[in-house]
Amino acid sequence: MKKDKILVIGACGQIGVELTLALRKMYGDANVVASDLREEHELLKGTGPYVSLDVMNKEMLHVLIIRHNITQVYLLAAILSATGEKNPLLAWHINMQSLLNVLDIAKEENIDKVYWPSSIAVFGPNSPMQDTPQHTIIEPTTIYGISKFAGERWCEYYNHRYGVDVRSLRYPGLISYKSAPGGGTTDYAVEIFHEAKEHQTYTSFLSENTYLPMMYMPDAIRATIELMEADASKISVRSAYNLSAMSFSPKEIAAEIKKHIPAFTIQYEPDYRQQIADGWPNSMDDSLARADWGWKHEYDLAKMTEDMFKNI
Ligand code: NAD
Repeated sequence: MKKDKILVIGACGQIGVELTLALRKMYGDANVVASDLREEHELLKGTGPYVSLDVMNKEMLHVLIIRHNITQVYLLAAILSATGEKNPLLAWHINMQSLLNVLDIAKEENIDKVYWPSSIAVFGPNSPMQDTPQHTIIEPTTIYGISKFAGERWCEYYNHRYGVDVRSLRYPGLISYKSAPGGGTTDYAVEIFHEAKEHQTYTSFLSENTYLPMMYMPDAIRATIELMEADASKISVRSAYNLSAMSFSPKEIAAEIKKHIPAFTIQYEPDYRQQIADGWPNSMDDSLARADWGWKHEYDLAKMTEDMFKNI
């Protein structure tokens, strides 16, 4: 067991639950403090320490970090893309201030490592859509994407200026079955499995040929931990790495689901989320992550679909 003491902020979300459980396995249950605004998630109960925390309260966050001798922080609290468009100023405020609170305390207290996720949402309609490169035109049009891009710049700034060891990934849309998604544009790819199983039909809020980069949660958790475990000398990107596994459209995932549930049907009723998706890449080039710290995905659409139906 390692001596690190980890704080996960936003531990009850889609990523937080699984990441907390994975970190507890690696570092020991008592060494991973889970925290969130919400009540403790069912799957976390009894698995390790839990504290109620509003990350916007910097003083409380500071006290918590000192009291628990925290050496690593994973900041997952955020307002996601679809929810963010409903209240842009709030999304900007929460997404920025939470990160600045964490980075500033990390600098003051010499925290060993900080993890904060970015997103494919940093890209915009002027970015190349296919195999979007690591370094390219970045002109996000959603407030979520704008806050992620600004966050990336802050991460790099705190690393270069103050030596804070902060690491980040541009996650694609994440598909999982343990904890529900929190208001993103790729949530359809989770909902579709539940609706297929329960009602054999699904109405997609994205059009049939909308391709987006996607990833199965076990790959995302492994990528996060591998990035955080990598030797600092291997991390050449201090803003956020492109990260990729697969790319598919609602039509393609529906066809894959039909292999398991032949009666399954899909309808398309695009809503405001279509416009968000249209500004994002179809697929991502993550060759830098693969070269720098050895990233390799395991799940493609077929393997993920099989595993989802085994578990939901
Ligand atoms: P989520 O919405 O499921 O979870 C976020 C958690 O943060 C929630 O449990 C919420 O209660 C908590 N939270 C919100 N405000 C808080 C506050 N003020 N103080 C403490 N906790 C607070 O989100 P997620 O999908 O788990 O995403 C985690 C991170 O990964 C976010 O930064 C998100 O932008 C990023 N990301 C997610 C995806 C995805 O597909 N899920 C894709 C790209 C990037």
